[in-house]
Amino acid sequence: MSTNLTPSTLPDFPALWQETLGWQPSVAQNVLFQQLYEGILEGNQQLNLTRITDPVEFWEKHLWDSLSGIKAFLQPSRESLVPDLSNPTPDIQKTAPFRVIDIGTGAGFPGLPIAIAQPNWHVTLLDSTRKKLDFVSQLLERLNITNATPLVGRVEQIGRDRAHREQYDLVLIRAVGAASICVEYALPLVKIGGLAVLYRGQWLEEEAKELSPVVNLLLGGELEPVAAFKTPITQGDRHCIYFRKVAPTQPLYPRPVGIPAQKPLV
Ligand code: SAM
Repeated sequence: MSTNLTPSTLPDFPALWQETLGWQPSVAQNVLFQQLYEGILEGNQQLNLTRITDPVEFWEKHLWDSLSGIKAFLQPSRESLVPDLSNPTPDIQKTAPFRVIDIGTGAGFPGLPIAIAQPNWHVTLLDSTRKKLDFVSQLLERLNITNATPLVGRVEQIGRDRAHREQYDLVLIRAVGAASICVEYALPLVKIGGLAVLYRGQWLEEEAKELSPVVNLLLGGELEPVAAFKTPITQGDRHCIYFRKVAPTQPLYPRPVGIPAQKPLV
């Protein structure tokens, strides 16, 4: 794949969006995706934001992958307005506006493409690295995205802060650590009835079996059906693991900074 820093035009792939996610971006959303891509390539010259710079790879691994986790919420925008009742992802309440947080967003994934796709949602982009979030802030301004807010901090502290604890309808987490660490980071932020979404590559049923009792007893979450995908271009394995918040998280969690990663729950 090319690592050329000159931005090319991102592919549109309307049929692939439609076939795989039952949704297509509007023309305006495609313009924002292109601007996002160009902004990330530019930022990559100063910061190590992503190794994914090829336009097709960016489309698949950053745009498509980010939106795959919210497939059940996506509404057809170009074609029919009839809901896709064959959608296999969990039955989640679709009435906006939603409060969403993306933990360890880095350069803005999956939260930024989601903010573009769902302009009625509000997305908080959380990361402990100020430099990355300074970049994300500039990008939000440049793209005139007003429904996303950067937040610098450690999730272990944010998860104990009343302004954030159990305040989010949807909590997203991609490429931040092992699943047992991610659940401790994510579940305390989910409000009762809301969902945590773990974006994973490979996923084994044994992992779910191991994790489920702990999530249930300590964190107040219940495992929902797992969504398994193949990425549409390279046919890579992807899984989205959904945990529904059914009871308050025990006050002890998340444990202090560094502990969830040093001593994972499972
Ligand atoms: N989610 C993005 C993606 O999928 O492209 C970025 C993933 S990057 C590998 C992991 C990010 O998580 C880093 O930007 C790091 O600063 C952030 N991170 C790791 N531990 C964190 C914590 N405890 N609190 C907040 N952010 C954290």
